[in-house]
Amino acid sequence: MGNTQLGKDLIAMLGKDKVLTDDLDLMYYSYDSSFLARNRKFMPDAVVTPRSTEEVAQIMRFAFTNNIPVTPRGAGTGETCGAVPAKGGIVLDLSTWNTIEEIDIANMQAIVRPGVIHDELNQELAKHGLFFPPDPGSTRMCTLGGMVANNSSGLRAVKYGTTEQYVLGLEVVLPDGRVITTGGMKAKAIKNVSGMNLTKLFVGSEGTLGVITKIRLRVWPKPKARGILMAVFSDLEQAPAAVLDVYQDGILPSGIEILDESAIKAVNMYKPEIALPDAQAILLFELDGNPASVEYEGNRLVEIVGKRASHVEWSTEPKRMAQLWQGRSVVATAAARVREDGSRIFAGEDISVPLSRVTEALKKIRAVAQKYGIGVVNYGHIGDGNVHTAPVIDPENPAEIAQANKLVDEIHRLAVDLEGSTTGEHGVGLVRAPYARLEHGEAVNIMAAIKRALDPKGIMNPGKLFLTEEEADNVSPTSGSSRSA
Ligand SMILES: Cc1cc2nc3c(=O)[nH]c(=O)nc-3n(C[C@H](O)[C@H](O)[C@H](O)COP(=O)(O)OP(=O)(O)OC[C@H]3O[C@@H](n4cnc5c(N)ncnc54)[C@H](O)[C@@H]3O)c2cc1C
Repeated sequence: MGNTQLGKDLIAMLGKDKVLTDDLDLMYYSYDSSFLARNRKFMPDAVVTPRSTEEVAQIMRFAFTNNIPVTPRGAGTGETCGAVPAKGGIVLDLSTWNTIEEIDIANMQAIVRPGVIHDELNQELAKHGLFFPPDPGSTRMCTLGGMVANNSSGLRAVKYGTTEQYVLGLEVVLPDGRVITTGGMKAKAIKNVSGMNLTKLFVGSEGTLGVITKIRLRVWPKPKARGILMAVFSDLEQAPAAVLDVYQDGILPSGIEILDESAIKAVNMYKPEIALPDAQAILLFELDGNPASVEYEGNRLVEIVGKRASHVEWSTEPKRMAQLWQGRSVVATAAARVREDGSRIFAGEDISVPLSRVTEALKKIRAVAQKYGIGVVNYGHIGDGNVHTAPVIDPENPAEIAQANKLVDEIHRLAVDLEGSTTGEHGVGLVRAPYARLEHGEAVNIMAAIKRALDPKGIMNPGKLFLTEEEADNVSPTSGSSRSA
């Protein structure tokens, strides 16, 4: 089927307004925020912007009959080439289908269509003293469909968990066009243990099993108070030890962030006025809750963390909190500016390791970076062992790209060696797919069997999550090329 015919068929089905086939339009959908997509374009043959379950079902029935690959896409902020059409075909842009259908205050739930932007939902919920806790850094851009598909989270996952904990039920269009509901999409009860947990199967499946068209979310009361503790460590080993002390005291902060030596230097270079103290590590503890508990726990943090840190400061005063948080809030930008001729690349950047091995991870990452002559800036969510490594290279320089590939490959393997995961946040997509077998072993075959059962023709976001050997060899430059242990 030629592109023109595909375009004509889709226009006949959906009307002109919902179909794009011009090269310039298609180009926009050929990449996401990943480094891999910076170097390679994955062009779709057509893009459609459906706005009803029936339209999605119609498109899927058509694609199924004609063996056309379909890739769902939210805002395209993914860092792993998840939403790019690796095998061409149709991109299903769900970002314009952005209706908040219901905010059910009495039952602490919301029902949304997939294109609703995360921050926009939270603005609506805030009017009722509620919030949806997972908090990716892309909050002002990313869609709830993308968040569910990637099981997204952020720096508050240590207390609030990831998106999966809040998804009560889904409506999903399967690759052959059948529409199903899972879990509590129809039932409103918050507790539901009836049957196999299909909701969790779709959460984190990155668009490879079906199209998420409706989401019922559990929402929470918005905390009324917040406080920040900044702690400075002259010995890196003391930082995770202080985190453990806090947990053992029965305190669960909403976020615990780390800036290591490299990140402290980057922040001070980028904004000297922030003037972070020279140290091996700085930790930022965020507490939230009711004012009395925040105050009590803040005072405990000063005592507990103060035993290991060379300096601590606690505040609940908004202006001072913002100042204490400043280093953390600019670190990503600072990382991108540490080299005048370089840029930060998103590759090997979000591994997660057990808390007890964070120091080891940071030391090993520094050693590997040195071996390959690549500058890195390390920071992350130490509270749940999610280490962000920002490699900084000249992305136009093939020699540096080649070295960065080797670095990134070792970082992914290191994560698995340390009993961690190749991704604690950004997902697998195309970029981490070559490591699926290393991380999951035989379980990859079970994933493939589930995929075949739901998507027998393999049309749903093909070439992602787990790859054939031939596909894996094509994924370079930044994912490494090995598929097995
Ligand atoms: C500046 C920045 C900061 C970020 N910070 C974080 C962070 O802190 N934590 C984090 O987890 N991620 C983060 N990300 C990555 C990304 O923003 C999130 O994973 C986000 O939730 C993806 O949403 P999206 O709408 O952009 O999805 P897309 O990138 O469009 O798609 C992501 C995946 O979901 C699938 N998909 C999208 N919609 C649907 C649907 N309706 N049905 C089925 N499949 C679908 C796609 O096929 C793809 O596999 C960040 C990205 C950027 C650029």
